[in-house]
Amino acid sequence: MRYSWKVARISGIDIKIDSSWVVIFLLFTFSLSAYYFPQSFQASQRLHYWLLGIITSLLVFVSVLFHELAHSLMAIRQGEKVEDITLFILGGVARISDEPGTPQKEFVMALSGPVSSFFLAFIFIMISYLVAPFSKPFQVAAAYLGYINAILGGFNLLPGFPMDGGRVLRAIVWKATGDLKKATRAASMVGQGIAFFLIFAGVFQFFRGNLGGLWLALIGWFLHNASIQGYSQVLLKMSLQGLRASDLMSRNFQYVEADLPVESLVHDYVLRQRQRVFLVREGERLAGIVCLDDIKKYPRERWPELKVRDIMTPAEKLIYVTPYTSGDQVLERLATADVNQVPVIENGQVVGLICRNNLLQVMQLRAELGI
Ligand SMILES: [Zn+2]
Repeated sequence: MRYSWKVARISGIDIKIDSSWVVIFLLFTFSLSAYYFPQSFQASQRLHYWLLGIITSLLVFVSVLFHELAHSLMAIRQGEKVEDITLFILGGVARISDEPGTPQKEFVMALSGPVSSFFLAFIFIMISYLVAPFSKPFQVAAAYLGYINAILGGFNLLPGFPMDGGRVLRAIVWKATGDLKKATRAASMVGQGIAFFLIFAGVFQFFRGNLGGLWLALIGWFLHNASIQGYSQVLLKMSLQGLRASDLMSRNFQYVEADLPVESLVHDYVLRQRQRVFLVREGERLAGIVCLDDIKKYPRERWPELKVRDIMTPAEKLIYVTPYTSGDQVLERLATADVNQVPVIENGQVVGLICRNNLLQVMQLRAELGI
């Protein structure tokens, strides 16, 4: 289970912190306060190392946020919609609603992140020179922040999709060939190449006795997954182009009553009819939706006593689409709400259900027929 907390709202964008970020924050604070600062300057009390460590770690957080905000604000200026920014263990992700419409837009949006990081690096290094005559601790902290921002900018410029540099590369190939798919594949291949190189270099370093190599390998592994996932996401979106929810939904879905015991939902419906998802009715009203995942949350012993009502996703919490919602928006909704199915509603009536599976099936069919 992943948690994230909303901590602020800037220019209409929700800023969230993923729970994994707490780990990285503690790690940064600890390595600065217990090792880096004590090795770099003398403080009269240990507490000072820790205070400065916490402030510096918070500024690392602000730096990553600044980078993502640069992407987001540039995206908004280009007329895109930004959902939110989540800061997680290896940096941040700004969720921008659509794939950018033109290579030029992509180019400036991607480049704005690293440019903002280099800008911050420059500012922090200037600060470190300015405070040097007055305070060694602040000079060390500012220099460190300059260094971190330079790394943040430089690492993100690696030309592998979906990193910023990969997006820049994609925009260039896209502009040159006019083919977004080809461009994405090229940038994704370079991303995977870089990922393998990082993994290889990291493991090599590790066996030479350098523990930092593990970090490198881990980052390579993340990048590898991200570049494959990013590519298939683009493919999926493209193959859904021109399709609407009504083309994707399945029309045969079943209702169950809200006060049906979960035990009989499993035996009489799921097992007998081999369906994974049911609409829940209470009188004439749609009360919610129940799927296999809801059932699995509860141990078998409790199934006889529980009713469908107790385990379903209630109607108020459901996200809906209409038959006219475009295919890639459906995909976006599924991903944004992190659910596996959405009901399709027309005039207050459920007319169909779309599961992630439907999308994959449609994609497969279209690929087979060469559409
Ligand atoms: Zn970036």
